[in-house]
Amino acid sequence: MSKRDYYEILGVDRGADDKTLKSAYRKLAMKYHPDKNPGDKEAEATFKEINEAYEILSDEEKRRRYDQFGHAGVDPNASAGGYGDFGGFGGFEDVSDIFSSFFGGGGFSGFGQSGSAGPRRGNDVQADVHLSFKEAYSGASKEVSFYRLEDCPTCSGTGAAQGSSVSTCDTCGGTGQIREVEHGLFGQSIRVRTCPTCKGRGEKPDEPCPTCKGKGKVRKRRTIRVNIPAGVDNGHVMTLSGEGDIGEQGGPKGDLLLRIFVSTDSRFKRQGLDVFQEVSLSFTQATLGDELEIDGLDGKIKLRVEAGSQPGTVRRISGGGFPNVRGYGKGDHYVTLNVEVPKNLNHEQKEALKAFAGSMGEKATKEKENKGFFGKVKDAIK
Ligand SMILES: [Zn+2]
Ligand SMILES: [Zn+2]
Repeated sequence: MSKRDYYEILGVDRGADDKTLKSAYRKLAMKYHPDKNPGDKEAEATFKEINEAYEILSDEEKRRRYDQFGHAGVDPNASAGGYGDFGGFGGFEDVSDIFSSFFGGGGFSGFGQSGSAGPRRGNDVQADVHLSFKEAYSGASKEVSFYRLEDCPTCSGTGAAQGSSVSTCDTCGGTGQIREVEHGLFGQSIRVRTCPTCKGRGEKPDEPCPTCKGKGKVRKRRTIRVNIPAGVDNGHVMTLSGEGDIGEQGGPKGDLLLRIFVSTDSRFKRQGLDVFQEVSLSFTQATLGDELEIDGLDGKIKLRVEAGSQPGTVRRISGGGFPNVRGYGKGDHYVTLNVEVPKNLNHEQKEALKAFAGSMGEKATKEKENKGFFGKVKDAIK
C-alpha cells in the first residue's frame, strides 16, 4: 500500500510554517480522535496517519528528509545516512558526476554531518522536471519550482528581532557545542554535538526575530530556469550545485537534485542512446524497392528500401539516435520493416496476383522439390 503524502494528510501547503502545521494537526486530531469515534476503524486509521504526518513534519530534521526523499527518507527501515538513502528514489540513476561539469560544482555529498559545530554544508533539496521525448533529444530550458531554506530576509539570518541585543547561549556557554557523557558497555565515552539551542552559533538573540522565530532561516519557494542538456533519459538525476538549502555558520549551500521524467513516444522506443522504430511498407514496395520518408528524432528522414526486402529486415541509421549527455557521440536509429500483406483485393487485382503466382509457380516446377513461397501460394489459391 502506498502511503499518502504527509502534507496532503494534514491539508497544508508544502511551505507551511510550524504554527499552521500545529493548528491543522490539532483540528484533525480532535475530529478523528478514537474517544470521539468509538469503534470506527477508519477514523482510527486516519488518526494514526495524522499523528505520523505531524510527527515527521513537526521535526525539522525529519521534515527536511521527507521533503528530499519522500517516505523513504523517514522510513526507519531504510538504510541510514549517506549514499544508501538514494535508493529511496527507486531506480533513479545519479548522474551528478556527469552533470556537475555543466554547473561547475561537486556531486552529491550525502546528508549534513552531525557532530562538531562550525560551518556546515546546507542540505540537498529535490525537484522533478518533466520532458517530452523530443525535448530529451534536443535539450530544453525548463522552469523548476522547489522549496529550500534561505537566510531570513527580516533578520538577515541572525535570528534576532530588529534592535534586539544578542547574548551568550546558556545551554553551551558560548562554545556552540555540548558534550555528552555516554555510559556504555565498555565504559564512558564523550560525544560532542552541536548545541541544539543556538545551532552552534554560541549566542542567541534576547528577542527572536518574529519572521523566523529566531532560527535565522525560512523555507522559501523558488523557481529557477534550468538548461537541461540534450540526451537525458527518464530516471536521470541532475545535480545543480549550490541551489539547495543554505549552510550553517557560513557553510556552503546544498545542491538541488533534479529528477528527470521523460514521456514516451508511440513511434519510438529508446534503449540507452539507441532508438527503435517499426515502419510498415506495402508488399509492392518491399518487392520492387522504394524510397520511404519516415519520422526521425530530428524530423523527416529518407530511407531507401532495396527491392526484395524481407519482412523483419532491420535497417540501421548510424548516428540517428540520442546524443550522449556528456556531449560526445550519438546512438543509432534502428528501423524494422514490416511488410503488409494486401487485403480486400478486387477481382482484377486477384487475377493479376494469380498470374504472378503462376509465373513463379512455373519456375518452382522447374526447380522441382524446391517449391518456394510463391509456389505454395499458387497451390493454396488453385
Ligand atoms: Zn528572522
Ligand atoms: Zn548554544
